[in-house]
Amino acid sequence: MTSFRALQTSENAEGGYDMAVVERDTRDLPAGEVLIRVSYSSLNYKDALSASGNRGVTRNYPHTPGIDAAGTVMESSVSEFVTGDEVIVTGYDLGMNTAGGFGQFIRVPAAWLIKRPVGLSLREAMALGTAGLTAALCVAKLEQAGLEPTDMPLLVTGATGGVGSIAVALLSRLGFKVAAVTGKADQSEFLTRLGASQIIERSALQVGTDKPLLKEQWAGAVDTVGGDILFNVVKSLQRGASVACCGLTAGTGFQASVLPFILRGVNLLGVDSVEIPLVVKASMWDKLSLQWKLPNLDDLVHEISLDELPGEIGRILAGKQAGRALVRLD
Ligand code: NDP
Repeated sequence: MTSFRALQTSENAEGGYDMAVVERDTRDLPAGEVLIRVSYSSLNYKDALSASGNRGVTRNYPHTPGIDAAGTVMESSVSEFVTGDEVIVTGYDLGMNTAGGFGQFIRVPAAWLIKRPVGLSLREAMALGTAGLTAALCVAKLEQAGLEPTDMPLLVTGATGGVGSIAVALLSRLGFKVAAVTGKADQSEFLTRLGASQIIERSALQVGTDKPLLKEQWAGAVDTVGGDILFNVVKSLQRGASVACCGLTAGTGFQASVLPFILRGVNLLGVDSVEIPLVVKASMWDKLSLQWKLPNLDDLVHEISLDELPGEIGRILAGKQAGRALVRLD
């Protein structure tokens, strides 16, 4: 038995939810094959939903959120992992209904674990986290659909967010021209540093919802926001191009018609990074550690402690996050 610190969200007497850093005990962690001492986690939009009492994400409270964790195996009942192995966990049920990476220890099934690739430190792995994995899956899907660098730019929406900022950096690293859509006028320099060659105000993507088609402008797109912005992107893709859709910060619904699909042959590609087979996650982590390794990872993260998490959670819920919050647990 070991006691450890963790962020915990609990329901209060008024039916609201409070966050506090508390002492927990490894005996209280769920059953699982591998006990891990967490060195780093990271803050994703879904963590903020879980931490603020969203029952669509987390059914039961008190709960420790954190869908990402990277750390060292302390105990294992399976032969594939031994004490001292450095591992990464993202998604599956971690941080949703299983105590997550906002605690210094987690206990999880071995089937969720990836051994840290040689080319990434635990810190770098969590600078990327679910956001990096999702951005990589978006790029991989676009490439499978035929995307190649051209003079026409690719569009990234929600560009200053976690997934968006890594998508901008990754696409630019791979030689694509990137147009970044943002609601944060003061973050142009940040986006330019990540590799964006054009900055577009979010409001420009919110007009034209009543039109069946818009001018062909994009060789492809990564959409992290959904809603009517997503369908405006579909309507302005170049003939035959694709948009990878992974997020919902602007909404889950949109007004749509079949016209862009049947007149321009464009594709809407869905991306899930949570429940996909471990082997697919592992292949993305390998890419992110080698040929897709980002040299400017430090430009897009700021490191915080457990005690600083509640403030950061408020910021991401208000849509004010720029880049990634890397959570240090040691
Ligand atoms: P962040 O909050 O870090 O980024 C979201 C960004 O969206 C914001 O920074 C902002 O960027 C933009 N935004 C915020 N509010 C609005 C709004 N009302 N309308 C339009 N744009 C808005 O979140 P993450 O990067 O962690 O996640 C992004 C989305 O992807 C979330 O919906 C998340 O649930 C989803 N997701 C899905 C995954 C999957 O497996 N499919 C995995 C990971 C995330 P800016 O100001 O620059 O416009």
